[in-house]
Amino acid sequence: MNTTPRKRMISCRIWRDFSTEQKMPNTDISNKELLRKLRNQADELGCIVANRALPVCLKAIADRRRVTSVEFVPMPVRAMLTTHSKGFRVFLKIEDADQATALKLCYENEDQRQLLPLKFRFPLAHELAHTLFYELGTADDRPKEIREFKAGGGKTILENLEKYCNRIAGHLLMPSPLFKNKILKLKSLQPHDLLSFAEHVGASLESVVTRLDEEDGALIHHDLRGCIAAIRKSGKRLSVKAIARPRKLNVAREIRLIQAGEEWQIKTDSGGSILNGEAEGTVKLHLTLETNLSSQKVEHALNFVRYNSFEHGESYVFHLVAIGPLS
Ligand SMILES: [Zn+2]
Repeated sequence: MNTTPRKRMISCRIWRDFSTEQKMPNTDISNKELLRKLRNQADELGCIVANRALPVCLKAIADRRRVTSVEFVPMPVRAMLTTHSKGFRVFLKIEDADQATALKLCYENEDQRQLLPLKFRFPLAHELAHTLFYELGTADDRPKEIREFKAGGGKTILENLEKYCNRIAGHLLMPSPLFKNKILKLKSLQPHDLLSFAEHVGASLESVVTRLDEEDGALIHHDLRGCIAAIRKSGKRLSVKAIARPRKLNVAREIRLIQAGEEWQIKTDSGGSILNGEAEGTVKLHLTLETNLSSQKVEHALNFVRYNSFEHGESYVFHLVAIGPLS
């Protein structure tokens, strides 16, 4: 969430010392281009503070972005960023006011061995992403908002800002060069390996899956002829929170049709639900693989594991790939 008004769009210079960031002339750039630049900036910031090894310490990024304090308070929204005459303040939601002092201490002393609890890392990274829309000026200047996304794709300016700040937050937590390097070294992208990875980097499984979707090379390296998805189950409904698919591999039509934010549609061959109360398991099913010349049903294996996501309902990670012969 962002409480200050947005003004006009301006291009940004990246790969520089952000504390002395210069104001550049107004340029009308697309959302895609702005997102690319800000993701690069987030990658750079993450790499600088991580010193070549994940996890990224967010306190170190907050200091560079002139966040003078992070407060833990009971409030209606998950997180909030405000500006003041020397920089920014971030507020993170807690349920119980008694936790505030211990969490603040934990934040103040955060390092790679002792991270802020996972529940707060993504909201904090999201607010730090918002700071990239501001020019910091000198140490005595109030940060000035100088960049914004446009409305588009059926979304308002604010909706696009929130959506893209989530993407940028993923890069602060998992900057591209370090993320790719680690993912390539993983034994597999199966649920247990991904859950361990998420814990190691101090990121939610959902944000790991969103980041994976941007790294086609890593998915191809692991020969992912299918998808990985973060799923939320509430009642009988399965919704897709995040999905990663390789763009350069031919995956089943049913998998290509899945959209984040929508309901999970793939069922067992007999039309039943994938999940029936087990914490983990494997389901074999057939999906449609199309080539220029043919369309055939190919056997797939879906491995799933339930995990704790701090959210309502149950969370699962799905790993669904073709195992049958491709002719
Ligand atoms: Zn926000």
